[in-house]
Amino acid sequence: MNQSIERLLVLYTGGTIGMQQSAAGLMPASGFEARLRAQQAGEPGPLPEWSFQELQPLLDSANMQPGHWLQMATTIREAVAQGDCDAVLLLHGTDTLAYSAAALSFLLLGLPVPVLLTGAMLPAGSEGSDAWPNLFGAMRVLQAGQVHGVQLFFNGTLLHGARVSKLRSDAFDAFAEAPRQRLAATGRECPPALLPRRPAQVVVLPLYPGIGAAQVQALVASGAQALLLECYGSGTGPADDVQFIEALRHAHRQGVVLAAISQCPGGHVDFGVYAAGSALRDAGLVSGGGMTREAALGKLFALLAAGLDQAQVEYWFCRDLCGEMAD
Ligand code: ASP
Repeated sequence: MNQSIERLLVLYTGGTIGMQQSAAGLMPASGFEARLRAQQAGEPGPLPEWSFQELQPLLDSANMQPGHWLQMATTIREAVAQGDCDAVLLLHGTDTLAYSAAALSFLLLGLPVPVLLTGAMLPAGSEGSDAWPNLFGAMRVLQAGQVHGVQLFFNGTLLHGARVSKLRSDAFDAFAEAPRQRLAATGRECPPALLPRRPAQVVVLPLYPGIGAAQVQALVASGAQALLLECYGSGTGPADDVQFIEALRHAHRQGVVLAAISQCPGGHVDFGVYAAGSALRDAGLVSGGGMTREAALGKLFALLAAGLDQAQVEYWFCRDLCGEMAD
């Protein structure tokens, strides 16, 4: 559906794109709206009409927390509900851009307007910066009606909001969709509206030689409602460690969601390939297929924050909600 954009909301959260130099290094700075309007005067061709909103406090996205995902989602939902915008361009630092894009993909499921995220590797105004090309390029992509759901526009490329990762810190093509296996599309299922109702604590735990029961127990004792385990290869782990497996089983019995993804950039979970994977499944882990860490984390957060119980979270975690798992 190609709809022309008449009221674009530019939501500025901070990030390198608008940063200024300080004695300690680059820092977020306000006043970006005026700079954007001045720069637009020299831009060729028509661009959508836009209004501008700054989220406070402006952040280096290294400081983004799940609470900020909720702040962004609420601001966007309210602006759409009030009829203030028919598209959203979110300006965001690149360090955690992929995490926010993924979380918003789930927190904004069903939103009737497109949401596009962008940022920059170099501040606007610095020599050779990618800031204005990314920003005006994103406006043009929105205007052309190419954006559906939550997406990322960076270095001339449109990327799926729940499949993207930051793969480089030293180049303009910093983002890419990881080559993870996707499921054949079987028709998307719609979960209940994922409106946040309660706090949610999700912890990511990469498996590594040396991990044991103590690490799992410590995370469960910290209040984790879900453990996202980054397993080896096709979803294996130290299954010969009886105490480790028992710690997982115990956590699951206590109501903790145990979710699995692969730590291989091009991998996906298929527990049945190895006995060392089947044991994880038998301990209560559910498979996130080829989901990225960002997608799995954002999805678990959105499902738990919506108030779903352990069985419901496990059910929806394994299903494709917005293209994060299937084509
Ligand atoms: N540290 C910056 C941030 O994430 C990096 C960037 O925006 O490129 O806000």
